[in-house]
Amino acid sequence: MKLRVFRSDTKVGAVVLRRALLHSSGGCCVSCGWSEDVGILHSHHICRDEKLGEIPALCEYVTRGVIDVEALLAEFARCESLCPTCHRLHHWVEQGSHPAGFSSVDELFTKIVSRVH
Ligand SMILES: [Zn+2]
Repeated sequence: MKLRVFRSDTKVGAVVLRRALLHSSGGCCVSCGWSEDVGILHSHHICRDEKLGEIPALCEYVTRGVIDVEALLAEFARCESLCPTCHRLHHWVEQGSHPAGFSSVDELFTKIVSRVH
């Protein structure tokens, strides 16, 4: 099924669609619970194998009729919602770069998130 309801304004339609997806998944960061603005949340790919694309771009492709909404939903199901801070921290830690003085990644994560939020 092609979703064509937003084709007259694909950019606005993509934003509305992405916000709806984020709301449907709880509308908050799965790491720290932040939920002040769903539009700021990132969709982090839990598994990047055979990644179709970034969710904002895929939302626009759906509104243009380039891909089916089912493909977007399948890709979104492979993601989790993270606030920008937790998303950056996740990739930072993933790359193995964390400062000395912390005994674990969890300790580092908790310290940084508590300072930001
Ligand atoms: Zn967070």
